[in-house]
Amino acid sequence: MTQERRVALVTGASRGIGQAVAHELGRQGRIVIGTATSESGAEKIDADLKQNGIEGAGLCLNVTDQASIDDVLKTIAERFGAPTILVNNAGITRDNLLMRMKEDEWDSVMDTNLKSVYRVSKACLRGMTKARFGRIVSISSVVATMGNMGQTNYAAAKAGMEGFSRALAREVSSRAITVNSVAPGFIATDMTEALPEAQHEMLLKQIPLARLGAPEEIAAAVGFLTSDAAGYITGETLHVNGGMNM
Ligand code: NAD
Repeated sequence: MTQERRVALVTGASRGIGQAVAHELGRQGRIVIGTATSESGAEKIDADLKQNGIEGAGLCLNVTDQASIDDVLKTIAERFGAPTILVNNAGITRDNLLMRMKEDEWDSVMDTNLKSVYRVSKACLRGMTKARFGRIVSISSVVATMGNMGQTNYAAAKAGMEGFSRALAREVSSRAITVNSVAPGFIATDMTEALPEAQHEMLLKQIPLARLGAPEEIAAAVGFLTSDAAGYITGETLHVNGGMNM
C-alpha cells in the first residue's frame, strides 16, 4: 500500500482539534473518515471534506457504544479498506471538585475519554496487524501531567490513556504499529470557550508563549506522528502546550 492511500479514522472530527486533524491528514493525502455524534454532524463533515478536496467520509459514531464502533469499522472496511491510522480524539469534560463530583460525572468522562480508546484501538488493530503497519495517536492533555482543579476525572482518564498507549506500543511494535499520545495545552476550541473569563486570564499567565494554541498546531503534531518519518517513535507523549509544562 502506498503511503498516499492510507485510510485514517479520526473520532470527534466535527469541530475543534478533530476537524483540524482531519484537514491535516487529508492534506497529507490520506483517505479521511471523520466521525460525529449525529447524522447531521456526519453530513457536515462529509461536506467539509469535499469542500477541502479530501477523499473520505463523515460517519456517525458514539465511542461509548461498541455496536456503533463495529458498524462504523465495517462501513469503512467496505467503502475504503481498513484504517491503518487511528486518531482517538473524541473527548468530553464534566468538571467538578472531587468533593462534589457525582458518580456519573466520573463515569461518563472515563467512558468517553478512556474506555473509548480501548474499544476503538482494539477494533482497528486487526486491520493494522494485517497491513503490518499502523499509527495510533490519542489526544491526551497537559492536565494528565500537571493536574488541574476540578478535573480529577479528566486528568485520570488522560493519564490512563498515556499509560495504555505505552503498554499497547510494546504489544504491537513487532507489526510496525506505533502508539503515541499528543498532549495539548490549552487550545482555542469550544471546550476552552466554556472557561470563565477570569480563569482564561489566569491561564494566559501560566503560558510562556502567552496565548492559547490553535487546533492546527495540534494537528501538525498528529500529522508528524502518523507519518512515515515518525516510524521510530512509539510509546511517546508529544507535548504541545506553549511551554506551560516544561
Ligand atoms: P470539542 O468539544 O470541540 O470536540 C470534541 C469532539 O468529541 C466533538 O467532535 C464531539 O462530537 C466528540 N465527542 C464527544 N463525545 C463523543 C462520543 N461519545 N462519541 C464520539 N464522539 C464524541 O473539543 P476539542 O477541544 O476539539 O477536544 C478534542 C480532544 O482534545 C479531546 O479529547 C480533548 O480532551 C482534547 N484536548 C483539548 C484541549 C483544548 O484545550 N481544547 C486541551 C487538551 C486536550
